[in-house]
Amino acid sequence: MSESLLADASQRLENALKYVKISEDAIERLKYPKASISVSIPVRLDNGSLRIFQGYRVRYDDTRGPTKGGVRYHPNVCMDEVQSLAFWMTFKCAALNLPFGGGKGGITLNPKELSRMELERLSRGYIDAIADFIGPDVDILAPDVYTNAMIMGWMMDQYSILQRKLCPAVVTGKPITIGGSVGRDTATALGAFFVMEAMLPKFDRRPQETTVAVQGFGNAGAMLAELLWQAGYKVVAVSDSKGGIYAPQGLDIPSIRHYKEASRSIQAVYCKDTVCNIVEHTVITNEELLELDVDVLVPAALENQITSANADRIRARYIFEVANGPITSAADRVLEAKGVYVFPDILVNAGGVTVSYFEWVQNRSGLYWTLDEVNQRLKQKMLDAAEPIWAIARDQGMPVRTAAYVYALERLEEAIRTKGTRDYYLNGH
Ligand code: NAD
Repeated sequence: MSESLLADASQRLENALKYVKISEDAIERLKYPKASISVSIPVRLDNGSLRIFQGYRVRYDDTRGPTKGGVRYHPNVCMDEVQSLAFWMTFKCAALNLPFGGGKGGITLNPKELSRMELERLSRGYIDAIADFIGPDVDILAPDVYTNAMIMGWMMDQYSILQRKLCPAVVTGKPITIGGSVGRDTATALGAFFVMEAMLPKFDRRPQETTVAVQGFGNAGAMLAELLWQAGYKVVAVSDSKGGIYAPQGLDIPSIRHYKEASRSIQAVYCKDTVCNIVEHTVITNEELLELDVDVLVPAALENQITSANADRIRARYIFEVANGPITSAADRVLEAKGVYVFPDILVNAGGVTVSYFEWVQNRSGLYWTLDEVNQRLKQKMLDAAEPIWAIARDQGMPVRTAAYVYALERLEEAIRTKGTRDYYLNGH
C-alpha cells in the first residue's frame, strides 16, 4: 500500500505541474521531506517482558509554518507511508491556507493486541523518543487511524513533563477538559457537508432529488450521513467493514446510528425487531455499494477503494472523498473520462485539520470559543478554499483534484520563493 501511496502522491504533483508554472526551486524542495526520523520504543508489557516498537515522524515541508499531522497506530505503518501522508498534509494545509506545513507520524503495531496500560506506556515512550523533533512551533501532533483523544492527552502530558511546563499546543485532538476544542469530533463531517452544500447546487442538484451512498459508517461517515439526512438528502446506502445496507427510498440514518452504537455493526441494524418494519432494505457488500446507481458517492472508510479494477463500474456522478486517498490515480483517469466529478480529500476532509488549527490557536491565546464560533469559522474556511478551487477547475477545464493541487502549489511556491534567493541571483546580482 505504501508504495502506491507514494507513487500516487507524486503523480498528483506531476498532474498539477502541467497547469501551473512554478519555479524549479519549489519543485525540488517539494520532492523531498525536510526531515524524517525513525525511533525504537522499548515498552515493558504487562507480563513483564520487553518489546521494542518501531516509530516514525516526518516533517515534510515547513515553509508556511510548523508541520502538522496525525499519528497512526497500524500494522502497515512504515517510513514510505508516513512520508506520503506528510506530503498530503503539506498540500492540505496550503489549500486551506492554514499557517502550517505537513507532518505525519506513526507506530507499527496492532493496537488491539495491547492493554490500555501498555498503550499508554507506548504513547509516552513515543513522545520521549521524538521530543526533540516536535513542539508547538515546530511540529504538532494529532489523532489518525487507531489513535484518539485519550492517546493525545497522554502525549501532551508526556511532552509537558519533559519540558517542565504545560504545553497544550504541541498536540491537537485532546480531550476538552485538558485543552481540546469543542467541535473537533464533528469537524471532518461538518467540513465535508459545507463543501457538498456549496458544490452540488452548481450542478442544480437539490437535496430532495439527490441520492447518496456512504462507504464507512465511522466517526466521519456516520456523522456526515446524518447531516445529509437532516438536510433532506436521500441517503440510500451505508456500510461498515462487515457490509452494508441499501434502500432506494432512503434510510433512516438516526436509527441506524443508534443501533450501530448499540450493536457495533450495521448489518444487525435493519434485521431486528421493529426497525425491520420501518424501511425495506437489501443487504449489500462494500463492492456493491461503490457501484450503486446513485448521484453522490462518499468514500469515508479506507484508502484505495476505487482502483482501475472497479472504476469503470462506478455510476455516481459526484464523489466526495472523506477518506484519505480512496481513489488511485489510475482510477482518477477512468473517472475523468466518464465525466465523474471527484472532489478531493485534501479539500473535502480538511475540516478535521482546520478545527485542529483552531484548537492550537485557542491553546496559545488561552481564550476558548463556543461551538457556534468554531462551526462558523470552519464554514468560512471551507468555503474560502472550495470556491476558488472550483473556479480554477471550471475556468481552466481541469479535474477538481488537480485544481486543488494547483491552488495549494501556488501558495507553497510563493512562500518558498519569498524565503529563497533565486530572484536575487536571477536579477544578475
Ligand atoms: P473510523 O475508524 O471511525 O471509521 C471507519 C469506518 O470504516 C468504520 O465504520 C469501519 O467499519 C469502516 N470500514 C473499514 N473497512 C471498511 C471497508 N473495507 N469497507 C467499508 N467500510 C469499512 O475512522 P474515521 O475517523 O471515520 O476516518 C475514516 C476515513 O476518513 C479515514 O480514511 C481517515 O483517514 C479519514 N479522515 C478522518 C478524519 C477524522 O477527523 N475522523 C479526518 C480526515 C480524514
